[in-house]
Amino acid sequence: TTFEELGLSPELMKGLYAMKFNKPSKIQATSLPMIFGKERQNLIGQAHNGSGKTACFVLGMLNQVDFSNPAPQALCVVPTRELARQIHDVIMAIGKFTQVKVYEAVSLPEEERVHSVKIDAHIVVGTPGRVKACVSRRELNTRAIKVFVLDEADQMVDEHNFGEDTVRIKKSLPRDVQTLLFSATYDDVVRALAKRVAPDANMITV
Ligand code: AMP
Repeated sequence: TTFEELGLSPELMKGLYAMKFNKPSKIQATSLPMIFGKERQNLIGQAHNGSGKTACFVLGMLNQVDFSNPAPQALCVVPTRELARQIHDVIMAIGKFTQVKVYEAVSLPEEERVHSVKIDAHIVVGTPGRVKACVSRRELNTRAIKVFVLDEADQMVDEHNFGEDTVRIKKSLPRDVQTLLFSATYDDVVRALAKRVAPDANMITV
C-alpha cells in the first residue's frame, strides 16, 4: 500500500514525504482504510511506541478536518502534557502544508484563567482534566467534532485515573463522533473504558 492509495490529500502527502515517511507502516496500512472508510469505524489499536501509531491518528484527524471551517473538528486526549506536546509537534509536521491550527489544552492550576477564551483551532490536544474544564467553561465548542482520539489509554486509566474524565468528555461530543483508542496493553480496565467510549470498535493489534 502507498499513502496515495489511502486517499490522503496532496498537502498531507507533501508533509509525509518531507518527514521521509515514504510508505505506510503496517499499522498505518491496516488502520487508515478503516478510519477513512465510508463507515468511519471506531477503532481500538493495540500498539507500542515505534509502530507508527501516532501518524495513524494524526492522519485520521488531519485528513478529516475541513480547514475552511475554523471550528474544532478533532479532539485528542492523552495522559500527560509531554505527550500532548509531542503530538502537537507531529500534527504540525505532517500538516505543514495545510492551514491547520492546533490548540494545546494543558495547564497547571495556577495558570487557570479568569476569563474564558473560545478555542479557535481545528484540532485540540490535551489532558483530560483540562479538556473537561474547557468543555464545561464552554471554551471548547464540541459541536463540530468528528474524531475523538485517546492515546496511551492504559496509562490514562492505570496511572492517572482519568477514566471518568474521559467518559465525561466523550459524552459532550456529537453522537456520531468517530473514536480512535490506542493502548500498549489491553487489560480489563482498558477494555471497560473502550466499551464506554468506543462501542462496536474494530480491534487491531500490531
Ligand atoms: P510512533 O510509534 O508513533 O511513536 O512512531 C515511531 C517512529 O516511527 C517515529 O519516529 C515516527 O516518526 C516514525 N514513523 C512513523 N510512521 C512512519 C512511516 N510511515 N515511515 C517512516 N517512519 C515512520
